[in-house]
Amino acid sequence: MKPVETDFLIIGGGLTGLMCALHLHRHRKDYILVEAAGRVGGRVWTDFQDGFLLDRGFQVYLDSYDQGIPYLDLTKLDVGYFSTGAYIQGSSGRSYFGDPLREPSSLLSTLISSAASPLDKWKLFRLAQSLKQKSDEEIWSAPEVPTAAFLRSLGFSQKVQHGFLAPFFGGVFLDDSLGVSSRLFQFLYKRFALGRACLPRQGMAAIPQQLFRQLDPQRILLHQQVAGLEGCEIKTESGMKLRGRHVLCAMDQPSAFSLMGWRLEKTHSRSTRVYYFATEENPFLDRPALLLNGNPEGPIRHMSFPSLVQPSYAPTGWHLVSVTTRNDISGHVTEMNEKTIALKAGEAFDINTHHWNFLRSYHVLHGLPIMASMSGPGFMEIREGVWLAGDYLTYPSINGAFQSANQLASHLLAD
Ligand SMILES: Cc1cc2nc3c(=O)[nH]c(=O)nc-3n(C[C@H](O)[C@H](O)[C@H](O)COP(=O)(O)OP(=O)(O)OC[C@H]3O[C@@H](n4cnc5c(N)ncnc54)[C@H](O)[C@@H]3O)c2cc1C
Repeated sequence: MKPVETDFLIIGGGLTGLMCALHLHRHRKDYILVEAAGRVGGRVWTDFQDGFLLDRGFQVYLDSYDQGIPYLDLTKLDVGYFSTGAYIQGSSGRSYFGDPLREPSSLLSTLISSAASPLDKWKLFRLAQSLKQKSDEEIWSAPEVPTAAFLRSLGFSQKVQHGFLAPFFGGVFLDDSLGVSSRLFQFLYKRFALGRACLPRQGMAAIPQQLFRQLDPQRILLHQQVAGLEGCEIKTESGMKLRGRHVLCAMDQPSAFSLMGWRLEKTHSRSTRVYYFATEENPFLDRPALLLNGNPEGPIRHMSFPSLVQPSYAPTGWHLVSVTTRNDISGHVTEMNEKTIALKAGEAFDINTHHWNFLRSYHVLHGLPIMASMSGPGFMEIREGVWLAGDYLTYPSINGAFQSANQLASHLLAD
């Protein structure tokens, strides 16, 4: 059987693959995208269950991300916004820690919050101001150390590191020890200082769906797991053969390495687990913000009410609760049944969780790639015509996936 021929053959329909396809589509190039699953989106997806929208892991989009432009339209996604700060549950109770410059009503609570000393608050403010002045290039070329060491070098107290920065950025990096690159920390701190986290009305899956709708559906082949790659020709598990002048491998790192027959370090990914509950009680928080566990003990990292941010996440009269657990010392996610998690969340945040109804939990094994250095090269040509792209070649995030695709596409289109 002769293989189907195309100029650009994309493997993987996550955000990287979709963004590559969009560039090629806009330039009227001949392309085909093959995706193993029955849908696009990869790690960014939402399930609809009993009227609730359940994202596969706690995930947000930052409106200060720049790499989705011009293909992503936040207005059409009808995003709902988190407030600028977060609640912190510490030993002396719960307080709200916001950005009073953008959320003036948070001034008093932020000033009196015991989560950070006045000096730490000043340092956090100064760090945000100085990062806002820096270009991304400056940040990505700055000296690189683990984030925890970087924070120590800036003189942040243990209290604010453990009580605020670790639970907040531990959730972003899926790493409570803050061993992730200080460059990524600075890049994301800047993005949080410049913008707001948000959720689309139809859930996070609306992001890949919006990109998908701009493509020619006939060029997207779903349920086609690529099983082999020889030269520029692929064979799928169903026996289909396709050949591209260029093959763009836009898979997650474990899948890409497995296809190439390369060995990957045992600890190549950070995993995460989220538990969803439904409640008819009104949320005890008055702002749509994350509630961080400022106590380093215990399995709970943070909780939130996504339906406070975006009411479409729960049916009328209900609220959706998301509880994310910490990774243990070896980086594994905490395994507990839902009853124990509800109980532990109650203890951690001093709330009554008896009325919570369990909906579902997600254990995402490959959440984020573990990378020695950031930002990576963006893309790689591993042999003539075969290219790698993905978040593991820039930095682990939606913006990183888009950036990798943008860099590879502009390189190929410049040819
Ligand atoms: C739980 C969780 C929370 C996150 N939270 C955030 C957040 O809040 N903000 C943020 O910016 N980022 C977040 N991220 C990171 C972000 O989602 C990823 O960096 C990004 O989606 C990666 O996109 P990708 O296309 O590179 O990879 P993927 O999404 O992994 O896509 C790869 C695609 O390749 C397909 N594939 C693999 N092998 C094959 C094969 N052999 N044949 C055909 N197809 C194949 C897969 O099915 C998949 O669709 C989070 C990630 C997770 C998992």
